[in-house]
Amino acid sequence: MRRDVRSLIRIASYIVRNYFRYAVNDDLAQDVADRFSINPSFALVLIEAFSELRDSFSGKSGSWYIRAIVRMFFVKKVGRYAWVVEGIREFGDYYPAYQVWLVNNRYHCSCHTTKFGYRRRKSICTHVAAVILSRKVSRKIGEYF
Ligand SMILES: [Zn+2]
Repeated sequence: MRRDVRSLIRIASYIVRNYFRYAVNDDLAQDVADRFSINPSFALVLIEAFSELRDSFSGKSGSWYIRAIVRMFFVKKVGRYAWVVEGIREFGDYYPAYQVWLVNNRYHCSCHTTKFGYRRRKSICTHVAAVILSRKVSRKIGEYF
């Protein structure tokens, strides 16, 4: 599982760093698919979801987007508006899992009320960003396949 984190970081970094080099997402998707031996349709879905996340949360650092993309692979839906996001030690997570829930159109994460919570409260955490990405990807996979 830890090795998966490392290869996911490589894929996510490549997408985030090369996003502006391509005029169309399909070309980046093909490049990513060839380079990392992943399904080009899935690469495109991932890139489009990232692109939408970038539009909604512009001005975040590259590492913020990279963490959001990697974390997306560790999101588990546990209710209609509830998710569990597995903690990733490499990203400084203190707990093995974080709860994210959506109430009145607002996302909440258990990291807001746990260790280091005060610091994180002000800005959207990448656990929530991962859930947002995961929902986008699920919707898009429904459209594509
Ligand atoms: Zn969080």
